[in-house]
Amino acid sequence: MLRTNLFKYCPRCEQSKLRAEFNKEARNKDGLARRCKLCSRALHKAWRDSKPKAPHKTTDFGPWFDPWRIKPYRQNRVRDVVRAASGPLLMSEVAAKARLHIYTVNRCLLRLHERGLVSRHKLPMRVAAFCWKTRTRKPGTGTRMLYVYSWSGPVESSPNRP
Ligand SMILES: [Zn+2]
Repeated sequence: MLRTNLFKYCPRCEQSKLRAEFNKEARNKDGLARRCKLCSRALHKAWRDSKPKAPHKTTDFGPWFDPWRIKPYRQNRVRDVVRAASGPLLMSEVAAKARLHIYTVNRCLLRLHERGLVSRHKLPMRVAAFCWKTRTRKPGTGTRMLYVYSWSGPVESSPNRP
């Protein structure tokens, strides 16, 4: 019979469902699981949730540890340098002016860029060609030289502002 071949009754959700909606189980007579896929999934989840959770095996450095943490005064220094500059700056120039490590400046500029305070422009290859030596040193070193950063946020000394 076509009907019995296509459908199977699930005792848990009390519905007749397509055979495709049942997992395969070779030991059963019809080769299908007793319950439908949704029901067996729900049962497995309930069983998993009932068990106590094992603690994470990965090293936990504690809540104080944040590798992306930047001290606010450093970020403000980068912001002030870019804002005070008359023109666009290379990242290395920002680092030299702010007297910060270039990795710190990189992260600060990224955050300022995400906030829309700093705009980033790619230099044409011909202008950036002078840094061909740095490109082979470390990944990212050459790329860092290809961008200039300029202030695009609000200007503080606006006469209309109270
Ligand atoms: Zn079911």
